[in-house]
Formats: sequence, C-alpha cells, structure tokens
Amino acid sequence: MIAKPAPSSIAIPTTMKAWVLGDPDELTLVDKPVPRPGPAEVLIRIDAVAICATDLEIISGGTPALIEGELPFNKNFTPGHEFMGTVIELGPSVDEFAVGERVAVEIHAGCGRCERCREGMYTSCLNYGQNYGQHDKGHRANGYTTDGAFTQYAVNHVNTLVRVPEGMSDETATLIVTAGTAMYGLDVLGGLIAGQSIVITGAGPIGLLAVGVAKALGASPVILTDLVDERLQIGLKLGADHVINAGKESVHEAVARLSGGRGVNYVFECSGAPNAVDDAVKLVNRGGRVCLGAFAHEPALVDVRHIVSNNIYLYGIRGEGQSAVKRAAALMAQDKLDAALIHTHTFPLSELPTGLRYAREKLDGAIKIVIKNQEI
Ligand SMILES: [Zn+2]
Ligand SMILES: [Zn+2]
Repeated sequence: MIAKPAPSSIAIPTTMKAWVLGDPDELTLVDKPVPRPGPAEVLIRIDAVAICATDLEIISGGTPALIEGELPFNKNFTPGHEFMGTVIELGPSVDEFAVGERVAVEIHAGCGRCERCREGMYTSCLNYGQNYGQHDKGHRANGYTTDGAFTQYAVNHVNTLVRVPEGMSDETATLIVTAGTAMYGLDVLGGLIAGQSIVITGAGPIGLLAVGVAKALGASPVILTDLVDERLQIGLKLGADHVINAGKESVHEAVARLSGGRGVNYVFECSGAPNAVDDAVKLVNRGGRVCLGAFAHEPALVDVRHIVSNNIYLYGIRGEGQSAVKRAAALMAQDKLDAALIHTHTFPLSELPTGLRYAREKLDGAIKIVIKNQEI
C-alpha cells in the first residue's frame, strides 16, 4: 500500500458531528464546535476509532469514565478512545509533528507533575480526572475523563502521539493502542521474556495481541486459553504455540503437561472471569509472575496461602504506560505483530450504534470493530 501524501494544509471546519452520551445507553449524534489546540497540543482529524469493551461499559454504566468528578451521563460527553488520525493543526510551540502526519493516539496524558507521571506511569496519574476548573492539573484520558473519539476531530498532547508506520491502514492503526496495552503487561512481568513460558488467559483483543507481542519478544512456549475455538484459531495465527479450550479440557492439566509439571513463568490474565485470578496463580511456577489486565466485574476469591507460600508476584496494569504504544507500533512496523488479524468489521460514524451492537452481542464473530469517522 502507498502512504497518502502529506498535504501542507488541511481545511478545518468550525463544527463537527459528535456522538454524545445522554442517559445510560442513549447516544445522540449532534454538532459540536471543533476544538482548537493549546500549547503542546495538536488538532487531529480522527480517521478511525476501534470499539473497546470498556466503551460498552461506559455507555451503559458510566464507570470507569469520570467527567468533572461525576458519572458521564448528560454531560455532553463523547466516548471512544482507541483512535488514529491525521494531524491538521499545530498548537503554539509544537514542532514534534507536522501537519499531514498520521498518528495513533495513546489514551492517557498524565498531569506530568505527579510522582507517577514522573516515573513514566502516566496511566496511574495521581491527579487522574483532575482536568476542570480549579482542579485542572492537566490530566487527560480520551473517552474517560475528557471527550473521546466517536466524533471527527480531537485535540491531544504531543506526548500521546505515535507515528503510524508507513503503509499501515487506518483500521490496523487503531489497534496500535491495544497492542500497547499488551506490551505494557509484558513489561511489568519483566520485559525480557525470551525463552520464558507464558499462559495468556482470554482471547479478547488484548489477550490475542498479547500472544503476538509475547511471541515477537521470544517467549516460549506461548499458550492461549479461551472458550471459543474461532478465537483460539486467531491466536494460533498470531503465534500461539499451544491453545487450550477451557470448556473442553482442564487448563491446569494441559499447562502441567506442556510445562513438564512445573507450571509456567508468567500468566497474563485477560479474561476477567471470576475464577481467573485463582486459576492464574496456580498456573505459574514457584516465584512466577501474574499480570492482571482485564477489568473484572466481581471481587475474586483467591488462595492467598498459595500465593505467599510459593512467592508469587501479582501485578495490575492500567492501559498503556511507559511508552509501550510506541514499542508496539515498532513491532507492527517490522511485521512482527499482525494486529490486523483481530479486526473483523468496519462501520461509518453514522452507524456507531450498529457497531456497538455488533461488539456487545459479538455478532458475526466480531472481535474488533472499527468506525471510520470521516464517513458520515
Ligand atoms: Zn480500550
Ligand atoms: Zn500525574
């Protein structure tokens, strides 16, 4: 594919189409003013946005979105957070990017002034949600605490932008952020995972891309579990050495067989299933590490005695910290991670509700649904 030429200037309208959240599950397409970039920000024409399971949660239940410290209903709030687009205007002092460049956009711009931001953990900013009135510390999280991407234009801090590799389609570029979350999870497990064994539980978008990233980083063997054979098949294409259908065989027995009875070095838990944490700590070997990457809906009962007596480490991750998105984009640019395998459907912005329905009901094998924002 030939990359689009970079125009020197792109027309900027004054208003844009945007979906806003009213009451729970009530989305309306309205006109909003096109935002303008401030210092260290650019205006992005949103070309495509992927639907995430968290969008469905926010639209129905509000959390984890937080607008001015409250639930996001009836606040003229636009959800959506996994997007890419084209830089069309530079704010004052911006020379890191040029008009016409295609960028993928990290969700979180931390405040840049708290302890966690200074450590690179900007998805765990201590000033999370502090972005309004007298509380404006500069924190931003697209589609969570500030307007998101189910619209045509957005401003973003330059720190959140990652160049889209040349020749990559808009649809695939929306998946860079998801791949970044997978990368971040493997970071906290230790990063240098070549030759180490790993089980990834749950073949949703993050789990599937975690398979691809783990494989690209040299983990061996990479084992994927899920209940749906079609998703496990995609996992094989992304590089899983073994897949286990947890509805058909015992994951514990299969992992014991594949690991010489010892358990694996790492588990990356991406299912959010109620028993997943307890299962995970029993799949790793003594001294093993478990990363929890799914928003579970219920508290979990976990065998703490087993964790302590086996010196097992548990980590939670949020989003895409430590510039993991940039590193994930590099793997995709080098054809070491074929994220496009999880993209199943595309709809225009005007048909967002249909796209959300496909995602919610997993219609027609839906995994990642992409909305093309300029097609209204
Ligand atoms: Zn997401
Ligand atoms: Zn911060």
